[in-house]
Amino acid sequence: MTHVFPRHTRARPPRAARGDGAYIIDETGKRYLDGSGGAAVSCLGHSDPDVTQAIKDQADRIAFAHTGFFTSEPAERLADRLIAHAPQGIERVYFVSGGSEAVEAALKLARQYFLEKGEPSRTRFIARRQSYHGNTLGALGTGGNMWRREPFAPLMVETSHIAPCYEYRGREAGETPEDYGLRVADELEAELRRVGPETVIGFVAEPVVGATLGAVPSVPGYFRRIREICDRHGILLILDEVMCGMGRTGTLFACEQDGVRPDIVTIAKGLGAGYQPIGAMLCSGEIYAAIEGGSGFFQHGHTYIGHPVACAAADVVVEKLTTGGMTARAARMGEVLGEALTARFGQHPHIGDIRGRGMFRGLELVEDRESKTPFDPSRGINKRIKAAAFEAGLICYPMGGTIDGRQGDHVLLAPPFILTDDQVGELVDKLATALDVALA
Ligand code: PLP
Repeated sequence: MTHVFPRHTRARPPRAARGDGAYIIDETGKRYLDGSGGAAVSCLGHSDPDVTQAIKDQADRIAFAHTGFFTSEPAERLADRLIAHAPQGIERVYFVSGGSEAVEAALKLARQYFLEKGEPSRTRFIARRQSYHGNTLGALGTGGNMWRREPFAPLMVETSHIAPCYEYRGREAGETPEDYGLRVADELEAELRRVGPETVIGFVAEPVVGATLGAVPSVPGYFRRIREICDRHGILLILDEVMCGMGRTGTLFACEQDGVRPDIVTIAKGLGAGYQPIGAMLCSGEIYAAIEGGSGFFQHGHTYIGHPVACAAADVVVEKLTTGGMTARAARMGEVLGEALTARFGQHPHIGDIRGRGMFRGLELVEDRESKTPFDPSRGINKRIKAAAFEAGLICYPMGGTIDGRQGDHVLLAPPFILTDDQVGELVDKLATALDVALA
């Protein structure tokens, strides 16, 4: 008996006892290959001695000093390191404790930016269906996952949702990927005209969609068109890289591969690599200047922003991702993983699509490949895969809702970048076993 409030009140998960590289070991000694890094968190695996040493050293010096009174050396060092590798125009970093907090900060900063500029009529956001931006009310409000939103819908910020860029299901016969990308990007233009561009603060999107679709990148040209539309109407482009950022797709920021410059970008998960809870909201010099030259105060904040121990840990993580070559390793091992998945599952009768970038891969399950018909949701295919994989000693991240929040199943893979060739083989073998069990 425990008094912990668990995620599922009837579930009795094993106790995680120890980490060993790409493995989590439970109390009984069973080893689980971490094929999803939890949910794209553990980019460096579970026993990086440099990160844990940095945590100990910083805790010995000072663990906490409130940012209402102090800054800290680890926070400044980490901010400088991030900005040195950030997309063009991004100049400031605001630290928080996780992804949802980063998105909340982004939404509020975006609104305040327009208040400082004397444009108070901008009160709403546009985002995409089948997206997830976090579970706090603001972030949940911009997200387009209907199942998660529904119970709390009356409490949410005003957001309209356009189609995601989801080639597997969205591209029509005879349409080129580029034409498809422009067609769905133009939904933003249409929605802006419908609601009135002067009422809109910004467009929010994940460069590579994670939890709701399973590692879906956009097609070439999509985000460049989105950027053009944002500029034309003076709205902000807010990219949510909480899941796909920090090297996960093979570049430190995922949007580098889309050739697009955001006004605000959010990161978390891989930033702390699971060693510390930390996230960040990064903004352009122009947005910062509007606050600095206006009220001089961002009307936001949490107790633990810029936590020195979390920043010290994340600084080592980002150092490893950049100068330490770990992002390049994610790109290289991501290719190995992608090829292994295609070789094993490319002809699988119930896998309709294999997609992703770097160490961020997704497989979409279908009843029928030809018609792309999804499985009946009552079969609970994604839950069965998750359970069978766990039994086989593999942690992966299967989810539903690929089509409309109620239908469709996918498996998301986001293993640590330290994965070896042998471990790629082990992952694919165990996933194959899990699919056999779940689909039987
Ligand atoms: N944004 C994206 C794209 C995410 O995938 C997530 C979490 O999965 C969040 C935001 C929320 O992050 P957190 O769970 O750390 O609050």
